Amino acid sequence: MRQPMVAGNWKLNGSRESVAALIAGISAGISAVSKSEVVVCPAFVHLADVQQAIGDSGIKLGAQNAADQESGAFTGEIATSMLQEFGCEYVILGHSERRNIYGEDDALVAKKFAAVQAAGLKPILCVGELLEEREAGATETVVATQLDAIINSAGVTALTNAVIAYEPVWAIGTGKTASPEQAQEVHAFIRQKLAVLDGSVAEKVQILYGGSMNAGNAADLLSMADIDGGLIGGASLQAESFLAICQAAG
Ligand code: PEP
Repeated sequence: MRQPMVAGNWKLNGSRESVAALIAGISAGISAVSKSEVVVCPAFVHLADVQQAIGDSGIKLGAQNAADQESGAFTGEIATSMLQEFGCEYVILGHSERRNIYGEDDALVAKKFAAVQAAGLKPILCVGELLEEREAGATETVVATQLDAIINSAGVTALTNAVIAYEPVWAIGTGKTASPEQAQEVHAFIRQKLAVLDGSVAEKVQILYGGSMNAGNAADLLSMADIDGGLIGGASLQAESFLAICQAAG
């Protein structure tokens, strides 16, 4: 059985004050609503405050990105060892905003994936197609290519220590959620693709859905056989809606 997981991607949002209020609200409510694995991913500068605030609530900490390099002349980058010092267990990698706005390609995502795992952290590897790729019938090809970049460099068994997030780019931050059936189709495709290479990895790996998941649509999405949780953007910025999604995850 795969444990459900809900991860909040807070992106470039929050002040010290608003982040303190958000994590206090989530921590206060979480044990009453959910047995799922719950992760929050604040901006780098808020990690220390959030680490302290989550205490022994069981909530886990993640970062939104990491460098592929360990140290040196890489201005503006954050190393995996630095993230560990602040209690991070997860790192979101290959988010469509990193790929499409900041030009991170499959090769760089694969290097970051290796660096994150070498440091003992777990990547949350994001994959997903653009609207025009879906309309051209290329969803599976796009997702397979993004996964192959990791499998060909790290090996399929590396995915045992990772989480995959299927995030159709057209659904992120747009309010247009994939239907449960549309999402399940791609999740099943991902699991089957892995099963061809390694049945045990396919069985174990958690595959999250991300893209305008909210308190109203979470239960239907999460009821699908291959949807093991959610990566949540906008709806993770309010404790109430995030807790409602955690509750729907079980
Ligand atoms: C995301 O950015 O990973 C995401 C899923 O955002 P939203 O929930 O706002 O669509």
